[in-house]
Amino acid sequence: MESWSEPIETGEVPPDGSIFDVIVVGGGPSGSAAAAYNAMNGCKVLLIEKEVWPRDKVCGDAVGGKSLSHVKELGVKEMVEKTPHFMVDSIVFGSANGNSVKVMLPQDEFEKKMAGYSLPRLQFDYMMFKKATEIVLENRGAVIQGFSVNDVHDDKQRITGVSGRFGKRGEEGPTLTYSASLTIGAGGYRCPVSTKLVEDLHGEPMRDDDHYCGGYREYWENVGGFEGSQGPIEIHFIEEVIPGYFWIFPVQEGLVNVGIGMVISEQRKQKGADKSLKKKQRWVIENHPVFKERFKDAKLVKGSERGWQLPFGSPRKSPPSYQPRRSAGAGVMCVGDAASLVDPFSGEGIGNGLVSAKMTSKYFDKELHSEGFPEEAAQEYMEDLWKTLGKELTNSYRLQKVVKWKKVMNWFVGKASRKKEMGDMLTGMIADKEAQKALWSPWFLFKTILLP
Ligand SMILES: Cc1cc2nc3c(=O)[nH]c(=O)nc-3n(C[C@H](O)[C@H](O)[C@H](O)COP(=O)(O)OP(=O)(O)OC[C@H]3O[C@@H](n4cnc5c(N)ncnc54)[C@H](O)[C@@H]3O)c2cc1C
Repeated sequence: MESWSEPIETGEVPPDGSIFDVIVVGGGPSGSAAAAYNAMNGCKVLLIEKEVWPRDKVCGDAVGGKSLSHVKELGVKEMVEKTPHFMVDSIVFGSANGNSVKVMLPQDEFEKKMAGYSLPRLQFDYMMFKKATEIVLENRGAVIQGFSVNDVHDDKQRITGVSGRFGKRGEEGPTLTYSASLTIGAGGYRCPVSTKLVEDLHGEPMRDDDHYCGGYREYWENVGGFEGSQGPIEIHFIEEVIPGYFWIFPVQEGLVNVGIGMVISEQRKQKGADKSLKKKQRWVIENHPVFKERFKDAKLVKGSERGWQLPFGSPRKSPPSYQPRRSAGAGVMCVGDAASLVDPFSGEGIGNGLVSAKMTSKYFDKELHSEGFPEEAAQEYMEDLWKTLGKELTNSYRLQKVVKWKKVMNWFVGKASRKKEMGDMLTGMIADKEAQKALWSPWFLFKTILLP
């Protein structure tokens, strides 16, 4: 059994003024992967994380097929499999009138253990960071935790490095400064590197409430309807939660992650107490005719009640520069939430975080860019990122709008749940080898049925 509660040994802190090929700010999945991929390319990397491991991250905890290919490539999959986890074999979609449809994940992907997992981020992120630490240290790099980056340096619009400190506010240690040809912003939705790039250097907006989503999560034990460590995850578009959705994702035997997500501008339109996702969730669990039954013997895991935000990758109406937002420039590339890449329908962000992390290693060449990562390469990265993810993110955005139409959802889910052929067709389409390239995830399938 792999442990995820022991401290991670990250080695010596590099002296003030040290120079690296790449600095990565943020040790979540995107930052850990970016550090590992660049170190595997022979770069001397500095990976910086402000928290000390193990650390929690508010999430639905689903790690889809897109993520798993990278997780495998980085050597993390076997580590994850040595910890308690849930193997996802299907997704249940529920509509406002109580109907539901179960879409199976492709059987062969499931058998190869590549369909999808769910497990607490406390565990998943620990494994990602631990492996990244090993790879970075093997390649002459350094890793620091408990160190918060509070300043990002630039020289004539080119980002050159960062400064930061150990310790919490009020008990800070000395400031240390590091520089590199490339700085990777992987600090999540409030990343100091992307803020510097987007707001300070380019005067563009970092946040957009039409494309940012509020999320609230709790862990519960003993919720009815789940058995064992394999089965469906559930997404419910219930009346009281639309235009958001309510999810129940098992993360190991006997433990589920329960939450609600809603776009922030929509949340603002809600009246009074209804604005609070926490209160909405309480209502669903205690009063909804279906869910109050399922939660009647369940127990809340105390201290697990937390909210966070999801920066969606949906296309902006009139972007000041790149879609969905500027994510690179001279000396800098941003990845994952720091580049606003979360799927606007499913809320999945880890997969796109890992895709962008790997892409940074394609665009950065330590010899060619020893004088600093150039603006032209930054533009190529941004174009490639949107070319790779733009179509899927745009479709997901359309679908996010469609699920607000309760009648359409009721129709679709009702039809799919009554007609066996429709269910078989959904699975058949996913299982078809040729179609599978496009149907990378069941989300896509759901979209294809619904959209013109
Ligand atoms: C409620 C909710 C449910 C979600 N459900 C899912 C899901 O089921 N599946 C899925 O794939 N995605 C889900 N997501 C999205 C997913 O959580 C994110 O997309 C993912 O965590 C992005 O990873 P990241 O590494 O880019 O950023 P993060 O995971 O946010 O990691 C950023 C890291 O940077 C560190 N950091 C921040 N600032 C600094 C600083 N100044 N100095 C040093 N370090 C710093 C942070 O401590 C953190 O460790 C959900 C999100 C929410 C909020």
